[in-house]
Amino acid sequence: MLVVKKFGGTSVANKERIYNVARRVIEDYKNGNEVVVVLSAMGKMTDELIAMARDINPNPSRRELDMLMTTGEQTSVALMCMAMDVLGVPSVSLNAFQVQMHTTSAYGNARLKRIDTERIRHELDSKRIVVITGFQGVNKYDDYTTLGRGGSDTTAVALAAALHADKCEIYTDVDGVYTADPRIVTRARKLSEITYDEMLDLATLGAGVLHNRSVEMAKKYGVELVVRSSLTNEEGTVVKEDVKVEKMLVSGVAVDKSAERISLVGLEDKPGIAFRVFDALAKANVNVDMILQSVGRGDTKDISFTVDGNFGDDALKVLEDNKSRLNYEHVEIEKNVCKVSIVGAGMMSNPGVAAKMFECLYNEHINIKMISTSEIRVTVLIDVKDADRAANAIHDIFGLDEA
Ligand code: ASP
Ligand code: MG
Repeated sequence: MLVVKKFGGTSVANKERIYNVARRVIEDYKNGNEVVVVLSAMGKMTDELIAMARDINPNPSRRELDMLMTTGEQTSVALMCMAMDVLGVPSVSLNAFQVQMHTTSAYGNARLKRIDTERIRHELDSKRIVVITGFQGVNKYDDYTTLGRGGSDTTAVALAAALHADKCEIYTDVDGVYTADPRIVTRARKLSEITYDEMLDLATLGAGVLHNRSVEMAKKYGVELVVRSSLTNEEGTVVKEDVKVEKMLVSGVAVDKSAERISLVGLEDKPGIAFRVFDALAKANVNVDMILQSVGRGDTKDISFTVDGNFGDDALKVLEDNKSRLNYEHVEIEKNVCKVSIVGAGMMSNPGVAAKMFECLYNEHINIKMISTSEIRVTVLIDVKDADRAANAIHDIFGLDEA
């Protein structure tokens, strides 16, 4: 069997943890499997490297930033192979150049295009454990790129697809995917299975367990994922196309506290206004999420939308800079808001799920500022001070604590 095992930063944070991972991997190897290991940078190393960069230059070029960040993963893989050597098992570390993991050219946010498997195959045939740097790639200029924060998950899934692996395990510091963030919802419970679509919504909504592009890729290539802890032997959560057990009405509650809301008041009520507003934002690379347009009164209307907290001030600036062209009365930004969402594949065929969520918020006297839905998700925007209370109440009302 060929297995791809990915270990996150906390799993390789120090000497003891590196040996712990080495031992776990060696066990698989000794059971007769071919093992490909993908590693993240140790602990908070990526954050530290970014801080070092900003200390030297507050605005480092993305190319040089990638050049710097890729050293984090390179450190991990080399140390891991040194540990395996001490434990008497042959292994080899490879970076994105040695493998040749081809990406698009966008530094800091590249996408994997193609992975050459020859070198890896050769090393596996020579009975070595192959330890590969996550997060990094090579672009057409022969420069290092990175896949965006948390991108090592995507490296692992891409390798599993390219190598036709039998198994792809993502090891982290939690023992699986939960019905909610256990730090917020005390009765959160680990799920044994979840669909790609649900996981995608939860990943994008800030559940933080898996990089969302890794789930997209897993779905596209049909790579079944197991998310589990590197510190225990708990079974973890399987992420796949269709779950065996009956589809849950709601499988999870996600809280995203990084949202901010921007409102444009008193826009002209005529064709082309929304286009102008969102085109200006898109050109400034501001990603917009929930959008609400009011019914026009007289000849004006309002548009409000949410953005990720990192982009609120940018968005505001773009709108202010374009005030004369967009011709609105005034613009406001609200920072103390958050998104709470429920996600469930069973929602599609069951009416009343949204109503139940709204009733729950009403019972808690929590005001809803905005609502958006998809086939398998309902999201509300509420005051951030109500976030934890809302998440707990919603979790309870849908009985998510019961297996
Ligand atoms: N080390 C990188 C990061 O912190 C990639 C990863 O851990 O997946 O974002
Ligand atoms: Mg991660």
